[in-house]
Amino acid sequence: MSPGARESTAAKRARAAKIIRTLERAYPDARIALDFTTPLELLVATILAAQCTDERVNIVTKTLFQKYRSAQDYAAADPADFEQEVRSTGFYRAKTRSVIGMARALVERHGGQVPRTREELVALPGVGLKTANVILGNAFGGQAIAVDTHVFRVSQRLGLAKSDDPDEIHDQLCAVLSRPKWTQTTHLVTTHGRRTCRARSPACPHCAVRALCPWPGKTKPRS
Ligand code: SF4
Repeated sequence: MSPGARESTAAKRARAAKIIRTLERAYPDARIALDFTTPLELLVATILAAQCTDERVNIVTKTLFQKYRSAQDYAAADPADFEQEVRSTGFYRAKTRSVIGMARALVERHGGQVPRTREELVALPGVGLKTANVILGNAFGGQAIAVDTHVFRVSQRLGLAKSDDPDEIHDQLCAVLSRPKWTQTTHLVTTHGRRTCRARSPACPHCAVRALCPWPGKTKPRS
């Protein structure tokens, strides 16, 4: 596909399927990078991961998850203590408010359990569509596309979606990507964004899906 060319939805779906098949071969190890063992742990880790690397979050949660084991534990946390415990993930005051508020809502509305529907998840304080989809796709075995910074950037470079709004990108991707693969597709595109289609210096000459990418800003081999 050439830059600027109009593409039918059917053609875009076919190209998207080829892209995903190619990424499956390129990144057979693609998986969620956050460490967790329960839906609650993943919910806390995903809130902490906003504007922070997953590696940093994993370092912080290694200790945090030993101290806070239930929604009741987080709901009863001292905000000043919690702020210090998550400080290195950045935006620690807002994240503290989100985690404690989310945990209190779990206790009050859901008996301390993480709910299994998107509607109930996004109704929790600090939980948006991306976080809800991370939980549905990775803690509950559902199929969901989570639009993080990598999916937002890469899907637009690949011409699979176009918007300033991540939620609109989500809806557009749902229309062109195969539903049975939504969760793994998220991991593949995120991994591609981390390793190859990086924000500042995409490695286009070495990109497995270069021939399927219409982005006019593709980098060229160094001469
Ligand atoms: S060719 Fe470049 S811009 Fe396109 S997907 Fe690959 S790395 Fe990203």
